[in-house]
Amino acid sequence: MHVFDLLFGKQHSFAERSLYTTIEVGIRYFLFAGIAWFLGYKLFRTRWLHRKIIARFPESAEVRRELGYSLLTLVIFGIMGAATVTASRAGYTQMYWKFSDHSRAWFFASVACAIVVHDTYFYWTHRLMHHRRLFAVFHRVHHLSTNPSPWAAYSFAPAEAVVEAGIFPVVALVMPIHPAAFGLVMLWQIVFNVAGHTGYEFHPRWLMKTPLRFLLNTPTNHVMHHEKMRGNYGLYFNVWDRLMGTNHPEYESRFTEVTSRPIPAARV
Ligand SMILES: [Zn+2]
Ligand SMILES: [Zn+2]
Repeated sequence: MHVFDLLFGKQHSFAERSLYTTIEVGIRYFLFAGIAWFLGYKLFRTRWLHRKIIARFPESAEVRRELGYSLLTLVIFGIMGAATVTASRAGYTQMYWKFSDHSRAWFFASVACAIVVHDTYFYWTHRLMHHRRLFAVFHRVHHLSTNPSPWAAYSFAPAEAVVEAGIFPVVALVMPIHPAAFGLVMLWQIVFNVAGHTGYEFHPRWLMKTPLRFLLNTPTNHVMHHEKMRGNYGLYFNVWDRLMGTNHPEYESRFTEVTSRPIPAARV
């Protein structure tokens, strides 16, 4: 599950594992959200403005709230990660530590499988958390961001953070996976997650004219989810939203509008 466990072996207490996993998840979060923040909100704020899905930028109070909840999420992810590693060390999951236990091909295939499992897990738990009886406790905090910044990537209520971290044991239970492969999945996760909340559409306009639109999700899709509250529940792929008919009716036209805006003459 976490790099420290890989490096230093299995002689860790639960508290140490929780701390190490929190640090690892935190490094990924601050690194990627920080890069996105620096590029999109500082360095290229003017240059990229024509691709900003919502033209205004979030207030600093909103960003502070997103950061605060994300810090809490890091700790919850740390504890849930440590619990998964502890259970795995005791032989309760299919996680394996010796590379030689499975083929190199499976190592990479397990990354792809875990990404598909996570996409499915996210879509259905996300829809569930939109149920009116569950929304307030689980998902309202994430939707306080109606114009999210990259720091919203982990802005969850504690109850939602537990649900999101549920993917750790789910993946470890359903397939043999090496902690390093899981690390690659988490890398993929943070890149998509941060990109979806940064608020810029970086895909080319032609994406919506090709079958790739059925597969790939876009930042426009997720920003619209924050803006409209309904529709667009997917994470990495647009497959479940297409299959279940849950894309927002204006999703494709909004994408085309954002990606068709001219680059202001001063910046050509
Ligand atoms: Zn939602
Ligand atoms: Zn979101």
